Amino acid sequence: MIDSTSRINSLRYLPKTRQYLIETLGAVEMMGYNKLADNTMVNMVPFLTGDYYENQPCLKSKHGVDNCTFIWQNYSQSGYLTHLGEDWPWAGTFHYSLKGFKRQPTDYDDRPFHVANEKGSKWMTDTCFHGKSSSETLHQRIYDLAYNLRNKRYFSLSTHSIMTHNYLEALRNIDNMTLNTFKKLYENNLLNNTFLAFFGDHGMRFGKVRMTFIGQLEERLPMMFIYVPQWFKTKYIGFFNNLKTNSRRLTTHFDMFSTLQHLLNLENERTHKYGKSLFREIPRERTCEDAGIRPHWCTCNYHLSATDNSTTRNNLASIFIQHLNTLLKNHTHKCSKLTLKSIISSIKLLSRQIEYIEHRVVIEAEPGDGIFEATLRCDRNCSTYNVKGDVSRVNKYGTSTNCVKDNTLRKICHCINTAKR
Ligand SMILES: [Zn+2]
Repeated sequence: MIDSTSRINSLRYLPKTRQYLIETLGAVEMMGYNKLADNTMVNMVPFLTGDYYENQPCLKSKHGVDNCTFIWQNYSQSGYLTHLGEDWPWAGTFHYSLKGFKRQPTDYDDRPFHVANEKGSKWMTDTCFHGKSSSETLHQRIYDLAYNLRNKRYFSLSTHSIMTHNYLEALRNIDNMTLNTFKKLYENNLLNNTFLAFFGDHGMRFGKVRMTFIGQLEERLPMMFIYVPQWFKTKYIGFFNNLKTNSRRLTTHFDMFSTLQHLLNLENERTHKYGKSLFREIPRERTCEDAGIRPHWCTCNYHLSATDNSTTRNNLASIFIQHLNTLLKNHTHKCSKLTLKSIISSIKLLSRQIEYIEHRVVIEAEPGDGIFEATLRCDRNCSTYNVKGDVSRVNKYGTSTNCVKDNTLRKICHCINTAKR
């Protein structure tokens, strides 16, 4: 997994890797792959468990997440060796906002190495280990693991975050490296019997591009390439053809979970709450609701135009600010009350079901100059708008939010201490 990498950004900065994946490996690129939630953890949880974070009490335990069932455990039970590696332990999927694992989660776990490495150098800027970048170390690990386990069954998840998380352009740093890793794997016959997903958890969540309309879309549309070995294409041609058809259908991390489950038992497929195996045809008319995508993250809207009048824009902005202050209501001793500084944009969305009207609104609030985006919906008998689901923070909040820990509050709160400074 390559953190914060949208399909569109891969077109900009991974040209060599893309070309190799498409032309040499024949990988299928999912073009309607829609993220499900805001950041890494809440997108990877659906990928690894088939359900939303909010529905799983085991993830919220103060004793760690060991009691949750992740997809690698299903693989382990079927006789596979398992591996987990994340190159940025401070921001680890299970450690940044969750309590992590108290027991080693997989047969091979790279965390102790990366924790030691992180302690040994300044985080983020000096991403080196013995004269190599942490990205090179991660790529070497992927290759070595595939080589050493070449005659065994294995499930491996490597997460590449430190290089790509903060800057849109940084993705270009790993193009050659990724290309070379795929080349080495393929040319040494290590992909003959291996399925490979090369993907982003979500696109870039903040920064200049995120302020644009294309930035709104690419944040919601992560990259997803799926490589399947030649024998599978021949033996299960129907499944492979469905995967190719689905490359132009609406798909999600839930579907990847179902696909990974399907791969474990191709003859006896199970059904899942949200996802469908990508080896089965996904209907052309699938809606965000069908796919389990919540309104704020849905990219599947027919038609877009600017919100047509200023009274509506002002009304939407005022509801939005009230919503933010409601979220902060139990934390007013720590977080400043927010007021509207400006309306940055407001776009009317026409959904495929004509049952409601939606506007995607971006505002700047003070104190703190936080820039927020929300989707406000009005049902058929429209009397008032409500914020549907998550709120996005589209500029960096730095240390101004350090007084709170909660995932949602961290995006919104402007700490009173900071305000006084
Ligand atoms: Zn992420």
